[in-house]
Amino acid sequence: MKNYTSDPAASEGRLEPIIKELKKHKDYEFVTPNPATNDDILLAHTKDHLQRIKNSPIIYEVALLSAGGAIKAAEMAFQGIPTFGCIRPPGHHASANSCWGFCFFNNISVSLLKLNEQKKIKSAFVLDFDLHTGDGVINILKEKQNKLKTKILNPTSHSESDYLEEIANKFNEIGEFDIIVAAAGFDEYILDWGGKLSTNAYKKIGKLMRDFSEDKCKGRRYALLEGGYYFEDLGKNIFSFCEGFK
Ligand SMILES: [Zn+2]
Repeated sequence: MKNYTSDPAASEGRLEPIIKELKKHKDYEFVTPNPATNDDILLAHTKDHLQRIKNSPIIYEVALLSAGGAIKAAEMAFQGIPTFGCIRPPGHHASANSCWGFCFFNNISVSLLKLNEQKKIKSAFVLDFDLHTGDGVINILKEKQNKLKTKILNPTSHSESDYLEEIANKFNEIGEFDIIVAAAGFDEYILDWGGKLSTNAYKKIGKLMRDFSEDKCKGRRYALLEGGYYFEDLGKNIFSFCEGFK
């Protein structure tokens, strides 16, 4: 393993190779989002949490932009355009009133709750294929079940084939949802911390999500970047996922 820094999710240059990889492909359109507003953040977080993040102006600025990217991806997905949010910082370890693991605002929850506030969705499925459990997503969304019904899968299988089967089985057994979103972490990659999934496995996950969304979510699907620290292959893995997902 190489290319790790002390604060890997925030390290400089993490997004550039991804953008460079995706820009090679003419059928990928890039969209620039607006930052989220404070009201958007407060859909998922407490005023105290927002204020604490505001006390670090640079983090506040980039975290708002990241959440804004999540909202844009969700809105495009709602219109039927499969969207991948190349956003930094990640969000799945941010809870309503606390955060850790390089996360500040919970991009997934903010974006889903925004669609819910706009009366566009009442239910959502979250596939969290990051190596780490998205505790923030779980904590926030479980408190919102009265307005937004959600189910979350963070697969735990120990081999690639079992992992893919676990996702496929879940998709087969569950019913319909208004949208599906992935907490798209790439740290289960064979050369990353998890040491489990190949580049081709990400394409298969993307395709499983595509088929599930076409069958049971009116074709609405998006994915938001979470972890992934083997920078050399991150662009390649994201592209592989998108090829199955699009
Ligand atoms: Zn992770």
